[in-house]
Amino acid sequence: MKNEYLLLTPGPLSTSEGVRNAMLKDWCTWDADYNKDIVEVIRCKLVTLATKHAGYTSVLMQGSGTACVESTIGSSLPVNGKLLVINNGAYGARMAQIARYLKIDCQLLSPGETNVPSVTQLETLLIEDPSITHFALVHCETTTGILNPIQELIAVAKRHNKVVILDAMSSFAGINMDIGDLDVDFMISSANKCVQGVPGFGFIIAKQSQLEQCKGQARSLSLDLYDQWLCMQNHQGKWRFTSPTHTVRAFYQALMELEEEGGIHSRAKRYATNQKNLVAGMRRLGFNTLLADNLHSPIITAFYSPTHKNYQFNEFYLRLKEQGFVIYPGKVSNADCFRIGNIGEVYPDDIHRLIDAMSHAMYWRD
Ligand SMILES: *Cc1c(COP(=O)(O)O)cnc(C)c1O
Repeated sequence: MKNEYLLLTPGPLSTSEGVRNAMLKDWCTWDADYNKDIVEVIRCKLVTLATKHAGYTSVLMQGSGTACVESTIGSSLPVNGKLLVINNGAYGARMAQIARYLKIDCQLLSPGETNVPSVTQLETLLIEDPSITHFALVHCETTTGILNPIQELIAVAKRHNKVVILDAMSSFAGINMDIGDLDVDFMISSANKCVQGVPGFGFIIAKQSQLEQCKGQARSLSLDLYDQWLCMQNHQGKWRFTSPTHTVRAFYQALMELEEEGGIHSRAKRYATNQKNLVAGMRRLGFNTLLADNLHSPIITAFYSPTHKNYQFNEFYLRLKEQGFVIYPGKVSNADCFRIGNIGEVYPDDIHRLIDAMSHAMYWRD
């Protein structure tokens, strides 16, 4: 089956026909042909993609990306732990919300949705409050597409011996990085972002020594990160509870296709080219970006909505969808925007076609 439109959203995103076809078979979750040959291979490949450093391991977890964030926060913070969260968008705010739900003490550093936090501010906060044990931040804040300076921020947290949780949901496999070089303790991403799989589970790549300290700390049975890891580790890829088999098999195919593309390096280049062409094309049509160029990620871009009195997002959206492109509504609180993602099975030629479709969808100019 072919797709009728291209999803220019940050996940779920457009997948390849190969990934979709990989879901057409059922699997027995007791046998080695699933556990050892698919799940274990995935776990191993993920660690290799994330870092060249030893000491890291991976856990796959059912649910959307948020379930993995919740699992990590709920399992890694001890009873008297305190979390410091960078909040410059909906996903940072969500981490704080998770902490509140789980009754975990939490402090926010909120530079505003169109700014990155300052390293000095972070350092001051950490010095002022030594009870902070964990530091959580989002890499690419999908709300605006802003790319947080994780290297500088994590370095400060590490100087103060904090455990670091990185939400790299929308950046892992789409941007070059080594989480070992960065000294990240827990990195979270999900199947339906830059690896280009379908939704249904996410994964955590963690320092094994840190993961082992999560034993007995989880605030939820099904989201117990340590137990999930232990079961996979001791039983060769066995999931504790029902495994999303078709999604997992599709993810395996997506990892193969990532390798065929030339790895993260090549994919990151494609995404960066997509984003550059997108911004240039949109500017030619008269659109302005929410963020300054130096804050952009190569993942998703927020554009100001036209101020023309006849402009309505829904109409614009439908006219684009009719031509085969699905864009994303805005999510920032203080500006009227829409967003266009450029990750997934999307190539520079698609962006070219999008800009053309865009010029036909600008009905308010007629
Ligand atoms: C997609 C995403 C998530 C997870 O969202 P779900 O809807 O739960 O999959 C978390 N953080 C970021 C930065 C994301 O882009």
